[in-house]
Amino acid sequence: MAAQTLNRAHVEPMTDPFGRGVTYLRVSVTDRCDFRCVYCMSEHMTFLPKRELLTLEELDRLCSAFVTKGVRKLRITGGEPLVRKNILWLFRALSRHLETGAMDELTVTTNGSQLARFAAELRDCGVERINVSLDTLSSDRFKAITRWGDFDKVIGGLAAAREAGLKVKINTVALKGFNEDEFDELIRWAHGDGMDLTFIETMPMGEIDGDRTDQYLPLSIVRARLMDRWTLEDIPYRTGGPARYVEVKETGGRIGFITPMTHNFCESCNRVRLTCTGQLYMCLGQDDRADLRAPLRESDDNALLNAAIDEAISRKPKGHDFVIDRRTSRPSVARHMSVTGG
Ligand code: SAM
Ligand code: SF4
Repeated sequence: MAAQTLNRAHVEPMTDPFGRGVTYLRVSVTDRCDFRCVYCMSEHMTFLPKRELLTLEELDRLCSAFVTKGVRKLRITGGEPLVRKNILWLFRALSRHLETGAMDELTVTTNGSQLARFAAELRDCGVERINVSLDTLSSDRFKAITRWGDFDKVIGGLAAAREAGLKVKINTVALKGFNEDEFDELIRWAHGDGMDLTFIETMPMGEIDGDRTDQYLPLSIVRARLMDRWTLEDIPYRTGGPARYVEVKETGGRIGFITPMTHNFCESCNRVRLTCTGQLYMCLGQDDRADLRAPLRESDDNALLNAAIDEAISRKPKGHDFVIDRRTSRPSVARHMSVTGG
């Protein structure tokens, strides 16, 4: 499979109408998953027919077009990205942009189920840090929240990741009445193993089987409660994403807070999201999107594609309008998180 190599080290980033540079692309390479987390999808999800998906070569071409336009960080996500067939080919192909200096970081968000197989190869493709989602340390609760997940496999995957030299950040969705009694233990466990821990608020995306108002736990409350027992110090540490970090004095580790609901972080948004069918979402919390598949397939030359990307960025909205309350029973955006990735 031939892949175009970029030699330019630094390119001016694309700028949206609000003066924000777009330097970060998240790519959902599949909407499928081997888990069925209750806050993410319903148990009997309908997935896209496989023929609708972009090929890995097309995903490489699209990502590379963004890198040419100044994107410096790529996150591969899903669905579960590591269940897509031959996905390491895409990591290998994209790693050439790290070698040329055209890109700073190639990373992945995963549920960890396939890490035992892939951790060493990911590291070999230039991946240095990964995000692994884990909401509980109890295998019974893990089964309840993921429906189909195998806790021991994820713990084994985490060990393989650390052995391969990958830095791991744990992502934990804060869920009322489910894991709020475990946060201290999660902090001790993650920091004890040298991993950062980030808490995420549930976002109203896609129909699920339950009621989101029952799950929603504002991180402002979580943070206030943690401060009763831990010394948290705000730090300027950033990873290019939306998390705001504190250092925990007692452990020396970091906790991130991703607070789309309680604190809107849109003013510093630097990212756009691509789906596995080539739809570009300029905001996670809005329905507006641009189709990049048609210009991609219309010619081998990137002129049409580049024009479509520029037009899309000119439509990047100021922010999202997420609401979770009992008066709105429908999700703020109809698509699931697994379509655009976390
Ligand atoms: N399957 C991979 C995983 O779980 O890490 C990658 C995709 S998953 C959609 C990315 C992140 O989104 C996970 O950390 C997951 O917990 C989070 N997530 C899924 N649905 C969510 C929702 N409705 N609100 C907030 N976070 C959500
Ligand atoms: Fe799958 Fe990730 Fe969604 Fe869980 S959060 S169902 S692991 S895509």
